[in-house]
Amino acid sequence: MTPPKTTPSKYLIELCGVTKLYQTEERLVQALAGVDLEVPPGQFLAIVGRSGCGKSTLLNLLGGLDKPSDGEVSVSGQNILTMSDKQLTNYRRFTVGIVFQFFNLLPLLSVLENAALPALLAGRKKDFAFQRAEELLINIGLEERLHQQASLLSGGEMQRVAVVRALINDPPLVLADEPTGNLDSKSAEAVLSALRELTSHGKTVVMVTHSREAAAIADLTREMRDGAFID
Ligand code: ADP
Ligand code: MG
Repeated sequence: MTPPKTTPSKYLIELCGVTKLYQTEERLVQALAGVDLEVPPGQFLAIVGRSGCGKSTLLNLLGGLDKPSDGEVSVSGQNILTMSDKQLTNYRRFTVGIVFQFFNLLPLLSVLENAALPALLAGRKKDFAFQRAEELLINIGLEERLHQQASLLSGGEMQRVAVVRALINDPPLVLADEPTGNLDSKSAEAVLSALRELTSHGKTVVMVTHSREAAAIADLTREMRDGAFID
């Protein structure tokens, strides 16, 4: 057997000198100004900071939704900057799951269909996708909502469906951008504990929040200001 060419890193996430510039009609915005970050697998990282400091930009880079202007974004040893479109699609499908502040469910589909969709898009058999979605939904306390239309759920229920959808393809990394920003405190607690639970299954979680209370459940917290970490 040929030995692997590179030594596997002890970090799941490695960012080095990451910058991101946006050119708007009026000006050039520097959203990220030299971000360095290392996160070992199985950790729960909370990123805090004021509105506009670059949190979502950073999360979008980690999610493969956008590319850095410069610097290295590496997840599971894969460098986002040098990926082809096909590699990026696979990365988004299998390496990361993303939970958004406004849930982004398809309102007319059922809970089960919403949760199973990324597995179907990834080419999984229908039976397999729906069975796995059902198991995860039951696990997260939504057994009575499986066949309900997503638009009829409460915010807390929608966000739990979004957590299941992020997990359906079993990614090692789960990203959450202000996942409790739109929830009452009881629903927020349920979503946070579902995210917390993921690390006991070896997953890495990166959550952006401006709630210090939400950040308190993380293993580590980093604060951003003006596009960089200040701690
Ligand atoms: P946060 O999530 O911390 O509120 P963002 O990452 O959304 O911050 O934004 C960081 C900075 O980049 C802000 O000044 C914002 O206005 C700017 N920005 C974000 N996205 C874009 C974009 N697509 N085009 C131009 N400017 C953007
Ligand atoms: Mg944001």
